[in-house]
Amino acid sequence: MGSESVKVIVRCRPLNEREKSLNCKIVVSMDSARCQCFIQKPGASGEPPKQFTFDGTYFVEDQTEQMYNEVAYPLVEGVTQGYNGTIFAYGQTGSGKSFTMQGIPSPSSQRGVIPRAFEHIFESIQCAENTKFLVRASYLEIYNEEIRDLLGQDTKQKLELKEHPEQGVYVRGLSLHTVHSVRECEVIMEQGWKNRSVGYTLMNKDSSRSHSIFTVHLEICSTDTSGKDHLRAGKLNLVDLAGSERQSKTGATGERLREATKINLSLSALGNVISALVDGHSRHVPYRDSKLTRLLQDSLGGNTRTLMVGCLSPADNNYEESLSTLRYANRAK
Ligand code: ADP
Repeated sequence: MGSESVKVIVRCRPLNEREKSLNCKIVVSMDSARCQCFIQKPGASGEPPKQFTFDGTYFVEDQTEQMYNEVAYPLVEGVTQGYNGTIFAYGQTGSGKSFTMQGIPSPSSQRGVIPRAFEHIFESIQCAENTKFLVRASYLEIYNEEIRDLLGQDTKQKLELKEHPEQGVYVRGLSLHTVHSVRECEVIMEQGWKNRSVGYTLMNKDSSRSHSIFTVHLEICSTDTSGKDHLRAGKLNLVDLAGSERQSKTGATGERLREATKINLSLSALGNVISALVDGHSRHVPYRDSKLTRLLQDSLGGNTRTLMVGCLSPADNNYEESLSTLRYANRAK
């Protein structure tokens, strides 16, 4: 496992209207050529900024298209060849995770990683010769360490994680949906997304408190010149992580605090797993510490590729959260 298979990049969004109206200062800067990110502590201009180096840095004007081509493209290409890949967006609520993953339809350069990945996969399928593909999708949510199928008949039913001696860890009863086009993928994703929000309004919680995993499962059957079939399978996990904000700041108590502790548990377990993988020397990769990492076990490490996008607000009033995202991303590096 070389560090080549785990890439960590950071992306900083522009100041939003609220931050502008509050006269917030920009405390994040980047040297993209050197893949360096700097953050200046507010009110401490005498101190040098803290400096971090990643596999890529994307500042306010940079477009998702460029980011996709530089870092996500090779990962998704691998999936079409039968490898597993996982893309995460990490950061506090409002830092640009959905903007990066789902994106906006126009300008087209800001379309998200997810629609681009769907297109990429179906284009590869169309171009492939002597190869047949079966494409299936699943969509689940982890909330409070409980797993639910966002595309299942009963989206409130809790599902169990099981371990199969050959196939590894799987979610018992998770529905798989065959898809034939980009549009079908999008429809399924929208359907699952809606199921997510139905749950939230019923239970009075907001969507930033759960982790969701949309997985595209590919079965690839290629026929060689002698007419022999070769089967491979690849998986692409698109992971929308819960907001990373620390709960001490939000004043959570009771149920909320219990939730928050579990969110932080999954996020720190994920950080530990990725950092053990990047290190390359760790004998023990602590996959078992959370549902999220157990579930993604076969797509993190080994013969797989992982991309983590750390999302940042540029504003001085988010300094602590941005610094904590940079530290998290830096550990994963
Ligand atoms: P999160 O998913 O992390 O909670 P969002 O993706 O919803 O955050 O982003 C919060 C707001 O900032 C949205 O209005 C989004 O359109 C805007 N935004 C985020 N990233 C960018 C960016 N790189 N360029 C322009 N606007 C952005």
